[in-house]
Amino acid sequence: MKSYDAVVAGGGLIGASIALELASEGLRVAVFDVQEPGREASWASAGMISPAPENSAMASLLPISMASVRLYPAFIQRVEETSGKSVGYRKDGALDLLLDGTGQSEIDEILALHRGAGLRAEALSGPEARELEPALTAELRAAIHRPDEASLDNRLLTHATLEAARRKGVEIFPGNGAKALWAATGTCKGLHLQNSRVEAKWTVIAAGCFSARIEGVAGYAPVTPAKGQMMALRCEAVNLKKDLWSGHMYLVPRNDGRIIAGATVEYEGFDRNVTVAGMKKILTGAISLVPALESARIEETWAGLRPDSPDHLPILGPTNMEGLLIATGHFRSGILLTPVTARLVGEWITTQKVSEDWAPFSPMRFQTARHSRGA
Ligand SMILES: Cc1cc2nc3c(=O)[nH]c(=O)nc-3n(C[C@H](O)[C@H](O)[C@H](O)COP(=O)(O)OP(=O)(O)OC[C@H]3O[C@@H](n4cnc5c(N)ncnc54)[C@H](O)[C@@H]3O)c2cc1C
Repeated sequence: MKSYDAVVAGGGLIGASIALELASEGLRVAVFDVQEPGREASWASAGMISPAPENSAMASLLPISMASVRLYPAFIQRVEETSGKSVGYRKDGALDLLLDGTGQSEIDEILALHRGAGLRAEALSGPEARELEPALTAELRAAIHRPDEASLDNRLLTHATLEAARRKGVEIFPGNGAKALWAATGTCKGLHLQNSRVEAKWTVIAAGCFSARIEGVAGYAPVTPAKGQMMALRCEAVNLKKDLWSGHMYLVPRNDGRIIAGATVEYEGFDRNVTVAGMKKILTGAISLVPALESARIEETWAGLRPDSPDHLPILGPTNMEGLLIATGHFRSGILLTPVTARLVGEWITTQKVSEDWAPFSPMRFQTARHSRGA
C-alpha cells in the first residue's frame, strides 16, 4: 500500500493548486481523480477573477476574495514559471452594464458596496461606457466600471497547475477516484480508492460537486451541482477589451480572440446537456449587450457543473476527523478563490495556523445544523 504525507481527492483547479502548494513546502503528495484531471468545472468556467459582491448576502466572501486577488500575481508567476505554460491572464477591467431602468439610488448602493470592500468602481453614463467599449449597444443607460478586474483562460490555468504540480513531484493518478474515507476511531487514515487503499497523514477532499458522493464526506460537504451552459463566439467585427456583465449574463474576451458567453445557473442534477433554451438565453443576452455579435460564429458550446453548497459559500478547513480537510463548494467563485484556498490549506497542514479567518466556511457548520435539527 502506498503512503504519502498528503493525498488529494480531485484533480480540478482546487485540488491541483493545493497539491502544488503542499509539494512546494516539501511534502510528498498524490492526487487521485476518477477521470483525466481538470475536465470538470475548472475546464468549463469563464475564468473571471471578480471579487465584486453580487449582493450584500455574499459580503462574507469578500475578505478571502480580496486576499485571493492579492495572491493571484504570485500564484500565476509560480504556475507559469514551474510549468513553462502561459495562462492567458489579462487585467483590463470589467463593466457592469445597467440596461433597464436602474435608478440612481441603486447605482449608489452598488458603488457603496464596492467601495466598502476596497474595490475601485466608478459610475459611467451609456456614452461614457461606449467610449471604453464602442461595440456596446446604444440602448445602454449606465454602467459601473471596475478597472482592476482580471480574467484568465481557466483551461490553460488548470492544465498548467497540474503540470507545475507534477514537476514539483506530485504523483497524479487519473482513473482512480476515491470511493470512501478511510476512517478509524476519529482519524482519517487516507482514502479507499477504486481498487486499493492509500494512506496519508493528511487527506484533502477537493472533488468539486462530486465530493458528497465519496462515502463519509456528505455530512461535511453537502454539495450539489449547479449547471452552467456556455458558448465561445468569434467575431472579427467585435474587439472587446473588458469583461462585460449584465445580471447573470456575461461576455469574457480571451487573448486568442474568442469571446466566452455565459452562463445559465440550473439545478438539474449531474446533467451536462447543452439545451436550446440555454443557448437562446445566452445568445439573446449577448446580442442585447453587443448587437454586432449577431454575425459571430459559434465555435463551441458546453456545460459544466459548479460545486454549490446549501448557503452558497465555500466549504474550507479541518473537520472533527483528525487529518481530514475539505476544500470545495466554491460555486461561482472557484477560479477567483484558488490561490487563497491553496494557501490556507497549505498553512493549516504545515503550521496548523491560517492567515485569513476561514471559520465562516468551516465544514463543521453543516454538522451543527444537523444536530440542532435533531437529525
Ligand atoms: C459555466 C461556469 C462558469 C464559471 N465561471 C467562473 C468564473 O468566471 N470565475 C470563477 O471564479 N469561478 C467560475 N466558475 C466556478 C469554478 O469553475 C468552480 O468553482 C471551480 O472550477 C471548482 O473547482 P474544483 O477543482 O473544486 O472542481 P472541479 O473542477 O469540478 O474538479 C473536481 C475534480 O474531482 C474529480 N472527481 C470527481 N469525483 C471524484 C472522486 N470520487 N475521487 C476523486 N476525484 C473525483 C473530477 O473528475 C474533477 O477532476 C464557473 C463554473 C462554471 C461551471
